[in-house]
Amino acid sequence: MSKLDILSMDLSEIEKVLTEIGEKKFRAKQIYQWLHVKRATDFDQMTDISVQLRTRLKEIFCINGLFVRKRLESSIDNTVKYLYRLSDGNFVETVLMEYNYGYSVCVSTQVGCKMGCRFCASAIAGFVRHLDPSEILLQIYETERQSGVKISSIVLMGIGEPLDNYDNVLKFLSILSDKNGNDMSLRHVSLSTCGIVPKIYELAQLQLGLTLCISLHSPDNERRSEIMPVNRAYNIPELIKACRYYIDKTGRRITFEYAVIDGVNSSPADADKLASLLRGINCHVNLIPVNKVRERNYHSARSGVANFAGLLQKRGINATVRRTLGSDIEAACGQLRRDAAAGNID
Ligand code: SAH
Repeated sequence: MSKLDILSMDLSEIEKVLTEIGEKKFRAKQIYQWLHVKRATDFDQMTDISVQLRTRLKEIFCINGLFVRKRLESSIDNTVKYLYRLSDGNFVETVLMEYNYGYSVCVSTQVGCKMGCRFCASAIAGFVRHLDPSEILLQIYETERQSGVKISSIVLMGIGEPLDNYDNVLKFLSILSDKNGNDMSLRHVSLSTCGIVPKIYELAQLQLGLTLCISLHSPDNERRSEIMPVNRAYNIPELIKACRYYIDKTGRRITFEYAVIDGVNSSPADADKLASLLRGINCHVNLIPVNKVRERNYHSARSGVANFAGLLQKRGINATVRRTLGSDIEAACGQLRRDAAAGNID
């Protein structure tokens, strides 16, 4: 029988296993704190637990780990990109960014992605598998360990579609924010989705404090379907309806992400359409200069992004341009993982 992945288990699940083997419930809390507060990587580090119980724990559980395969540091700012190898040999990317308010980390939620957005490097190699809760969590723990910094905010904007790995992502969020363990407020977490509408409704019911970000990228239904196939399943009117519901239910403002692509989505007509689509919605538009992807010829001029921001602001839409970090190590999100999977990195 394979061992239980203890970093993917919440406190009540660990308590259940421990009581089944005749241990007191409080032991579970002790172990949980070793894992999530003291960040033990081995049961033998848990010195206030008897050697006998540690041996038993090692028979039942495993403590998952990530291994740095490559580390790229920006020479422009302090952005660091980690390529981590998972225990089954797959790879994920995690990016550590420094802002004036602290450190933020961008984590992946899947190995590859099924969504097929045209401009996205993660989509090109297709989908391999979901990440387990522990594998999402460890991107934070291991990055803190590697860098020696305390991470104060998290964005689920790396490789993968978080709402396509809904159960594991929610489990990750509950372990991340558990008062008995890591205790990070979900106010410091942003979750970005390409727009899986039924899951937006489900998430709304939970009324979590996180910031929901929607990758919109075009206000035009046909154009959005061309660049984001998910729009053929859940079109713009349905998506906006779900967003309105989410805002009503949670009282939280939504962020719309918009990668500005020359000749695709940044004309004055696009600004008009976007402004009328979002009018009256409690939201914020985050404009991103599209990152170059080797296989695609999408690009955006800096001036084009600033110009589009101006067009939106004139139309009363709250829009800002995302700061570009680590542009020299960009290798747009997902390219490093593909290179590694193909055996093409040193
Ligand atoms: N699947 C989720 C989260 C991962 S992508 C989502 O779609 O939101 C994180 C963000 O990066 C999304 O807004 C995505 O559309 C954007 N993105 C992907 N490729 C990009 C590129 N080449 N340039 C700029 N933004 C990109």
